[in-house]
Amino acid sequence: MALIVQKYGGTSVGSVERIQAVAQRVCKSVNAGNSLVVVVSAMGKTTDGLVKLAYEISPTPNRREMDMLLSTGEQVTIALLSMALQECGQAAISMTGAQVGIVTEATHTKARILQISTERIQQHLQEGKVVVVAGFQGISSTANLEITTLGRGGSDTSAVALAAALGADYCEIYTDVPGILTTDPRLVPEAQLMAEITSDEMLELASLGAKVLHPRAVEIARNYGVPLVVRSSWSDAPGTWVRSTRPPERSLINLELARPVDAIEFDTNQARVALLRVPDRPGVAASLFGEISRQNVDVDLIIQSIHEGNTNDIAFTVMTPILPKAEAVAAAIAPALSNPGEHGSDTAEVMVKSDIAKVSIAGAGMIGRPGVAAKMFATLAEAGVNIRMISTSEVKVSCVVDVCDCDRAVSALSQAFEITSSPIRSVVDIHPGKNTGKPPVRGVALDQNQARIAIRHVPDKPGMAAKLFGLLAEKTISVDMIIQSQRCHIINGVPTRDIAFTVARMDALAAQEMLITAGKEYGWGEVVLDQEISKVSIVGAGMVGQPGVAAKMFTALAQNQINIQMIATSEIKISCVVSQSEGVKALQVIHAAFGLAGSEKFVVPA
Ligand code: ASP
Ligand code: MG
Repeated sequence: MALIVQKYGGTSVGSVERIQAVAQRVCKSVNAGNSLVVVVSAMGKTTDGLVKLAYEISPTPNRREMDMLLSTGEQVTIALLSMALQECGQAAISMTGAQVGIVTEATHTKARILQISTERIQQHLQEGKVVVVAGFQGISSTANLEITTLGRGGSDTSAVALAAALGADYCEIYTDVPGILTTDPRLVPEAQLMAEITSDEMLELASLGAKVLHPRAVEIARNYGVPLVVRSSWSDAPGTWVRSTRPPERSLINLELARPVDAIEFDTNQARVALLRVPDRPGVAASLFGEISRQNVDVDLIIQSIHEGNTNDIAFTVMTPILPKAEAVAAAIAPALSNPGEHGSDTAEVMVKSDIAKVSIAGAGMIGRPGVAAKMFATLAEAGVNIRMISTSEVKVSCVVDVCDCDRAVSALSQAFEITSSPIRSVVDIHPGKNTGKPPVRGVALDQNQARIAIRHVPDKPGMAAKLFGLLAEKTISVDMIIQSQRCHIINGVPTRDIAFTVARMDALAAQEMLITAGKEYGWGEVVLDQEISKVSIVGAGMVGQPGVAAKMFTALAQNQINIQMIATSEIKISCVVSQSEGVKALQVIHAAFGLAGSEKFVVPA
């Protein structure tokens, strides 16, 4: 007999008939011998309707009253579902967040869960009842009983947190799609259902999967090792399993207050190859990394910053022992990548550096928390560590530093992020061998809501990145992809580099304005904004140790004449910025190139 937490989203409980269908499904599972806790959302678009009502009364509704209002949606559903279950002859009881004892922070409208009491639920389960719990809500403390909500889409979070607290065997998320798809089916009808995905991959695919499964829920599943499955409420199809490796025992106190960073990783066995001044045209990255993969060289980080004039710089890291081979390949291909300039052809220059290390901070909690990257940069600056390369993904920030700085960097970061010795991992321990058996690419995501900002000529000295991203964090602007260029310009005797990053488009103008002002103070150059970009990413745990994955992505773009403006990577993700008008095409060709397209077209539910 298993203890299962099921969660039904708004459309799944959108009408009386659907609530009855949910009751049938719950009964079936109980009759199969399981104990059930069922978490529900508000019916259909109820929450949207309530939000609208509030704004008709006030342009700035009081947050406490907003929670009082929004929490009513779920309260309707729990009562109706319990009645429907009782009507089927199944004992059931509904409970609000307060009645269960879901204690959250006191932050109205976006509270995080601190703790969940399980005694009352256990008692009811023992009495043979199905316990129906209101999702999305809690109370600020058992003393003052203020109603809080978790933020939109928060019922997923409630369900997985309950599963963690109860030690449930697994959590089922029922929704109106059959599971998690390899990409957005509205843009690529050939998208296929994934049978499974790891929680790390799911987090990196947040921009693709967030509508189906909230990243906060994935974070809890990962932290507590809760097995999770996303399934359709309309069928018995198996859906998509989100798997987490069972983490070490972890306290259930401050359940959602996990530190934004939960591990520090380093790799001292890295070397960097940079190609300077390669032409800014489609196909360059493809031919470089194509040749590298034909020579069976496995690259780790790849970074291409914003272009300057009509050339780009591309840098990548490899394991030190294969540096000579990587350098030879780069040197051999450089003449072919020469750039027809005014004064004859200008050959790309190859630069290598062997004594470098990669230091990364990792953690699901950095999603949506501005300032984590800034804190890393500030910590490194205080420790006097200069950052040579930066590359970021959804749940990881990696900096390349000199190898002699690595120990200092790791100890400063562990202190700053309060990481005790165990989760400081050498990359060799995390990804020990090739061929994990996982597919190199699990899914492809397109983010069309970003803009790119480039700051020219930022003095290359410790503390500059910290300053810059600290300022953005103060304005609660989250940055996504951060890239520091390779190319160095001497301005008034000071070496400078360009730093580029992406932000949500709605934050772009404010960020630019603020950075122009700050730039005057700190001696930065021009602040260039490009709103017409898209970011396309591939994610897959199986790409670790498999040469040729990046090359395949770049080749798919090159064959379609799509120019790559920026590249950033983490171990399990490669992201490219392309022009906005080419975003959808880029997504489609990359999805096809990795053989993810199914033979059947996916019909998007209305
Ligand atoms: N009803 C809430 C919302 O629409 C919570 C949820 O459905 O997950 O945001
Ligand atoms: Mg949802």
